[in-house]
Amino acid sequence: MNEPRRAQLERNLDLVRQRIDSAAKAAGRSASEITLIVVTKYFPASDVEILAQLGVQDVGENKHQEAQAKAEQCASLPIRWHYIGGMQSNKAAQIARYVDVVHSVDRLKLLSRLDLGASERDDPLAVLIQVNLDPPQQRESSRQGVDPHEVMTMAKAISEAAHLRLRGVMGIAPLDLDAAPAFTRLAQLSGQVRDEFPEATWISAGMSADLESAIEAGATHVRVGSGILGQRPQMK
Ligand SMILES: *Cc1c(COP(=O)(O)O)cnc(C)c1O
Repeated sequence: MNEPRRAQLERNLDLVRQRIDSAAKAAGRSASEITLIVVTKYFPASDVEILAQLGVQDVGENKHQEAQAKAEQCASLPIRWHYIGGMQSNKAAQIARYVDVVHSVDRLKLLSRLDLGASERDDPLAVLIQVNLDPPQQRESSRQGVDPHEVMTMAKAISEAAHLRLRGVMGIAPLDLDAAPAFTRLAQLSGQVRDEFPEATWISAGMSADLESAIEAGATHVRVGSGILGQRPQMK
């Protein structure tokens, strides 16, 4: 089976767009409110080029070096780069220079570095607060994300940074648990943030396996990787 890459990506992209349409319809929402971010981590810049030809405008990456290299190789394409991965603080300023949105702001320490990098941009850098949606007893050991109780403190700190623009929240459903309650919690937190910061309307939630449940809960941005690009090479 040697289907050309373009045909493969086109077919998968169509399927995912159909899933987004159906999920939006089922939730009584318009699919036009939902931005598809195609997560291209581990895949080459040539795939980003094909995706751009197929109308994709938003691409996600989770590692600084890989993201930076790809963004450079694809500089002529009309693509917005979304940074969705963990960040070392000493890389945050660099990341703030070449991406359009950072979804993974998860500690106060990052803000001064992001703000410094963003000061060299024409426009403020759009940022989202990554919220830890794992059950409390697992939060300590788990992946990144601010504790739900600290979201408002983080929102206030971002709003005070001169070159950052708070656009909303981001979350990843807990492993091996039903995603729906986690996305509902994220939507509630989004409402709290929006009450004080009306521009923070984005909810980045949902991946290949759970985008329907995220859209039902109100996601405005879904991040889909393997459902479009195929299985990633073995994780390091
Ligand atoms: C890799 C990744 C995705 C995409 O996951 P798939 O299951 O491949 O769709 C989404 N969000 C984040 C934060 C990721 O790291």
